[in-house]
Amino acid sequence: MPIKKVRSHISPNEALLFERSSPGKKAYQLPDLDVPAVDPRATLGAENVRAEIEGFPEVSEVEAIRHFTRLSTWNYAIDHGMYPLGSCTMKYNPRVNELVARTEGLAWAHPYQPESLSQGALEVMAQLESALLEITGMDAVTLQPAAGAHGELTGILLIRALLEQEGNPRRKILIPDSAHGTNPATAAIAGYVVENIRSDERGLLDLAALEQSVTEDVAGLMITNPNTLGVFESRIIAAAEVLHRKGALLYMDGANMNALVGIARPGDFGVDVMHLNLHKTFSTPHGGGGPGGGPVAVKKHLEPFLPVPRLKRANDAWAFDYDRPLSIGKVKAFYGNFGVLVRALAYIMAHGGNGLRAATMDAVLNANYIRKKLEPFFDLPYTLPNMHEVVFSDERQARLGVRTGDIAKRLIDYGFHPYTVSFPLIVHGAMMIEPTETEGKLELDLFIDAMISIAKEIETEPETVKTAPHATRTSRVDEVKAARKPVLKWAPARA
Ligand SMILES: *Cc1c(COP(=O)(O)O)cnc(C)c1O
Repeated sequence: MPIKKVRSHISPNEALLFERSSPGKKAYQLPDLDVPAVDPRATLGAENVRAEIEGFPEVSEVEAIRHFTRLSTWNYAIDHGMYPLGSCTMKYNPRVNELVARTEGLAWAHPYQPESLSQGALEVMAQLESALLEITGMDAVTLQPAAGAHGELTGILLIRALLEQEGNPRRKILIPDSAHGTNPATAAIAGYVVENIRSDERGLLDLAALEQSVTEDVAGLMITNPNTLGVFESRIIAAAEVLHRKGALLYMDGANMNALVGIARPGDFGVDVMHLNLHKTFSTPHGGGGPGGGPVAVKKHLEPFLPVPRLKRANDAWAFDYDRPLSIGKVKAFYGNFGVLVRALAYIMAHGGNGLRAATMDAVLNANYIRKKLEPFFDLPYTLPNMHEVVFSDERQARLGVRTGDIAKRLIDYGFHPYTVSFPLIVHGAMMIEPTETEGKLELDLFIDAMISIAKEIETEPETVKTAPHATRTSRVDEVKAARKPVLKWAPARA
């Protein structure tokens, strides 16, 4: 029987707030004045007072709330379901961390508060520093950088500062072809020439190629471990030795620490400097461009160059030390995104050492469960054991004219956020999947069923997949135009 369409006052294409406006509606009620009224034109000067804001929407409180609540349901979020984006570690962040971050004394602390009144906040930072050092096996850490890419830049500037002090900052940074795009961008902004190192046929750093490329002109190698295929760079210690022999340094992009925490420590396998993404590995809601945290951890020889201020213990209290002549200076206003630091410490302490290790094991188990279940249906170009994420290619489906982007869009119809599309670049038609430790078997099975179902659809009705999504308000938008010519301002229709 055909479904009868009815008109609903809740429109799937929610009207603009401006369109709900009518003159005189207000979202607030103020009591009558109990002091003499003043004319703002007289007190502020007429030129500073606007009679009205032209076209400003006038709506009631409940209209404003319903409008924004309805809009919020259009967004896919980790609170709705799994977010299988690889390389991003989109894990669920327990609410308790939010609760702790909102503790009054922490949430309302002002960065200009004197040190004597900030001891609790400084203690949070000191404890987080020591936890991160234990987890990474490094010697010192700065909490200032606001994101992974910002941490990378800080780290490469530290390398530059050390080499400059030794007499020659050198010219080149080596970067494997599996790297995240931020790595070469970072090296270039820090004034280095980027030289690519090819991965070998198994998807690992090619040691022979590295050996050839490391000259006296190379400042360092930037490597992600486990790499962006989710594979552990098992020859990392040998790679560190090759670099160190020529006076070059090893930078580790720690975005994939979700696979290492509690299991292996970069400080133990030759890394000189690395960043962490607190918003990936250590719990902070992630995405939407909100604040992040990209602490940079170093070995002793880089410690003198870390950004100011550094935390120090003096007279039985915490204090900031600005007297560090070799420091590269500040990289962020104040001391980093403090709320993110609080969440990270809460997350670490709530888990404890064994809990963190268990989270890592679960992340690896989940990714391998997905791998095993999907291997019969999708091409797996690199077959070494993977850790917390798995990268398929669309090769089989591409023969029927369906690409990774189409499959990702069809996933939306099944109620999932797409996986990471077309990254890493060394996998043609990459489908990169990272479930994280926080997904249970029920949700993983739903995701696996959706992927298998799509693989079968592609064999019988590829058009359905090529034109997906079908369950959304809009389907395929012009992504280039949306990025290049965004409409950011609503213009009121003029009478
Ligand atoms: C996310 C990510 C980055 C960049 O981190 P941001 O916090 O987004 O700046 C760098 N490298 C890798 C491998 C990543 O996954």
